[in-house]
Amino acid sequence: MPNAIPININIHSIIPISKVNGPGNRMVLFFQGCDKNCHGCFNPDTHSFQTINPYSPDELLKKYPLNGIEGITISGGEPFMQPYGLYELLKIARKTYGLSTVVYTGFTYKELEKKPECRLCLGFIDVLIDGRYVASKKETTLLARGSTNQRFYFLSSRYSKIDFCMPGKVEVIIGKDGVITKTGFSKLAGC
Ligand code: SF4
Repeated sequence: MPNAIPININIHSIIPISKVNGPGNRMVLFFQGCDKNCHGCFNPDTHSFQTINPYSPDELLKKYPLNGIEGITISGGEPFMQPYGLYELLKIARKTYGLSTVVYTGFTYKELEKKPECRLCLGFIDVLIDGRYVASKKETTLLARGSTNQRFYFLSSRYSKIDFCMPGKVEVIIGKDGVITKTGFSKLAGC
């Protein structure tokens, strides 16, 4: 990885604290840019590769207070389409701040393993949820994933599947600026 070169990550949006995007209180970072075009994608505004909010990985983790934050959840967009920035972000999150790392991707684990720059990222991820969103296989339990074809890969001993059984499916967050953000995985049935 090119450590000497400053790497910016193009970010769509950030939720400073969420309880429905993985275990505990988590900061959720939505990367900008995805070419997978899954039918029914929950976040189509993230597809464009236009630069929206460029941040260095270090800046991103200093933007909001991390008190009481257990980890970061990275979603998108497609995080692995910015693998160098993703790698730096994951490394700083784990090594500097001791945060856990959860990453959602439209690639499969096998596809990621074949690309050296993506394989390096896997070394700093606690849980990977892989695969494209398939609307006909929509998840209806409290598990934090979009569709049932998506698989959990527990790449460290930090979590297990029970930790992804959420207290609810959707959160509505009203920011200080009055902006309302809805996050999570719609439809509720029980874990
Ligand atoms: S991979 Fe994710 S962000 Fe990309 S189109 Fe599919 S659901 Fe949307």
